[in-house]
Amino acid sequence: MTWQKIRGHDDVRRQLDAANARGRLGHAFLLAGPPGVGKRLFATEFAKALLCENPPAVLTACGHCPGCQQVAANSHPDFTVARTPEDKHELPVEVVRQFCRKLGLKPSRGRRSVGIVEDADDFNEESANCFLKTLEEPAPGSVLLLLTTGTERQLPTILSRCQVLRFHPLPPDEMRAVLADHGVGDAATLERLVRLGNGCPGQALALNDDALWQFREVAVQLIASAKPDPVGFAVKWMEFIDQAGKESAAQRARASLVIRLLMDFLQTTLRTALGNDGTDARATQLATRVGPDAVLTLLEACNHGDYLIDRKVQLVLVVESLAGKLCLA
Ligand SMILES: [Zn+2]
Repeated sequence: MTWQKIRGHDDVRRQLDAANARGRLGHAFLLAGPPGVGKRLFATEFAKALLCENPPAVLTACGHCPGCQQVAANSHPDFTVARTPEDKHELPVEVVRQFCRKLGLKPSRGRRSVGIVEDADDFNEESANCFLKTLEEPAPGSVLLLLTTGTERQLPTILSRCQVLRFHPLPPDEMRAVLADHGVGDAATLERLVRLGNGCPGQALALNDDALWQFREVAVQLIASAKPDPVGFAVKWMEFIDQAGKESAAQRARASLVIRLLMDFLQTTLRTALGNDGTDARATQLATRVGPDAVLTLLEACNHGDYLIDRKVQLVLVVESLAGKLCLA
């Protein structure tokens, strides 16, 4: 692998190297860890290592050969990716069938073919069963990489046939390094993103957006005010979501990031209400007005709203309901 691209996850790397050294690399891996922790990047680099035509070392990609470059461009004939289509909330059986068919073919360039299921959380019964056949009787030389946010989201029949690779949140120093790699230079921004990223670079980088923080200011001001206006807030929030573009994935991501920042504000408010903080004037304002129990209820409402967004419930419904709760506490 072009390992230097990957920060952290040394334990996963060692696990693979050890299995490989014992000649027991296996043909199916379940990469489990929170969103944004780096599973997809790791899986792509792993695929490169498996398909590299000029590997400088065992399980290591050169990064330059046609094999490596075609994996990076997702155009390698022996490399395939299955993901949930934008307009679906499950991985349809047709997508999985096509994926399995491609992996069943004899590799055209080398001895291996590699398939990544990016949204293994989204299998439905039909697509999981279709996938199981390939998992039980893999084509010679094929390697499967499944990405999941948690092993508990997988069927036992899938779980038992995979080597589980667990991805843990990165420590703050690694987070700082990744963010610096991505050009986050301002020290205050860096620390803010490290704090909110929960050890997941993908989450931290998603929050590195000035427009988002500007909207946070507007939203917090509204919620903390003496007489919040739920309708006005919902309208402003939807306008902000629409600015993310027409693609619904981008809109959902933006709605969810707002919730994330609001939850951070509510957590400060809760600490303030419990007498453990007093640094934020608007948190103090809201804490004084509603009290700790109501803040807890709001945090739960935010969590639920985020879940609904993940389940692809219509955004306007989620936003209106949540804006109402946040303003009428
Ligand atoms: Zn290569």
